[in-house]
Amino acid sequence: MDHIAVVGAGQAGASLVETLRKEGFDGRVTLWGDEAEPPYQRPPLSKAYLLGEMTRDRLQLRPASYYEDQRIELRLNTRITAIDPAAHVLTHAGGQETWDALVLATGASPRRLPADIGGDLANVFSVRTLADIDAMEPAFAPNARLLVVGGGYIGLEAAAVARKRGMAVTLLESAPRLLARVSSAETAAWFAERHRAEGVDIRLNAALERLNGETTVTGATLADGSQIAADVVVVGIGVTPGTALAQAAGLECDNGIAVDALGQTSAAGIWAAGDCCSFPHGAGRMRLESVPNAIEQAQAVARNILGAATPYVAKPWFWSDQYDVKLQIAGLNTGFDDVVVRAAEARSHWYYKGDTLLAVDAMNDPRAYMIGKRLIEAGRSPDKSAVADPDTPIKSLL
Ligand code: FAD
Repeated sequence: MDHIAVVGAGQAGASLVETLRKEGFDGRVTLWGDEAEPPYQRPPLSKAYLLGEMTRDRLQLRPASYYEDQRIELRLNTRITAIDPAAHVLTHAGGQETWDALVLATGASPRRLPADIGGDLANVFSVRTLADIDAMEPAFAPNARLLVVGGGYIGLEAAAVARKRGMAVTLLESAPRLLARVSSAETAAWFAERHRAEGVDIRLNAALERLNGETTVTGATLADGSQIAADVVVVGIGVTPGTALAQAAGLECDNGIAVDALGQTSAAGIWAAGDCCSFPHGAGRMRLESVPNAIEQAQAVARNILGAATPYVAKPWFWSDQYDVKLQIAGLNTGFDDVVVRAAEARSHWYYKGDTLLAVDAMNDPRAYMIGKRLIEAGRSPDKSAVADPDTPIKSLL
């Protein structure tokens, strides 16, 4: 194999090319990205970077010299517009290239509010790229009024940063609670209380009718007729996986580019990793939007391209920072039917299906997170009453 081409210079793309070299692949490696930046971490965008506590260069996953040293051809500002699975050709505005193996690591794009309800007014922002944050940062001024649309992690992190920066914040969530897609009612209520204590005006069951303004946003009208004034709007209503290239080329897609356990798409020699793809999980398929998944799935795919033939088994974990709270999540709570609350020296929520432990949300409780993670990965489930009892030492759960 002479040339491995990777489309998408994000977290998964960077992990993939790095692993190819670590595993000894000596051929040509190209990494194509449509952003201006070398691969960088996204999590700090809605946390330390937006807060002004992290510099731009610290976001980068590797110094620019790394790619040169490793003979990785980094092609930035270049959007791949088409792939031809039969001819092994990719197309961009400047021409075409052939490949021997191709990896799609195209990530995901934020859902936007439609233009006819004000989604394209000035000062309405998504939170996905460094360019998004650089554009919104000047509007994050003390005393400015922020409206957050969406009560998921992105919206909550933006709200926390804005309060720390002295802004007035209103958050709209159309569901009856926060974090409805990803978390339990217990965790959602705990974070709602925390945000309200910090002064965020959280409106649940709030249906946005439209954003108001001529050219720049001035506020919002809700379905019940109420008006909210705003100088800046952050939209955090989820993402759609980057399937456009794959779909146009006839590759199978199912909530993302469909890959098998090795990471291969339905087209021979084309692989995918990260937010853009769904992979076999239990009886169905799963798509994860997290840094650990992007890194580890890309590592697995790189090894499989080189012949390892090892199925990827996700070991999900995630984190979120809001105010002084570090939330760490071990496992996946899909299908839970019970949540055990452990309120000891710190607080953690343990998700069970029957007597099987699925996941743990740990709020400023790294020990509960670590122990939960070890138990879940070992397929062991501690007794619920022991978990709930604050007098049971957490270590004894192991
Ligand atoms: P991306 O990092 O999105 O990279 C995909 C890249 O491909 C992009 O640069 C895109 O522009 C490029 N691309 C797409 N199509 C083309 C094309 N046709 N041609 C060329 N380039 C193309 N995860 C956590 O685990 N913890 C967190 O706390 C956390 N916080 C987050 C905070 C924010 C603000 C955001 C946006 C995400 C956060 N995530 C977090 C999620 C995490 O960042 C993503 O899961 C991860 O970046 C996925 O990596 P990826 O490589 O699949 O996609």
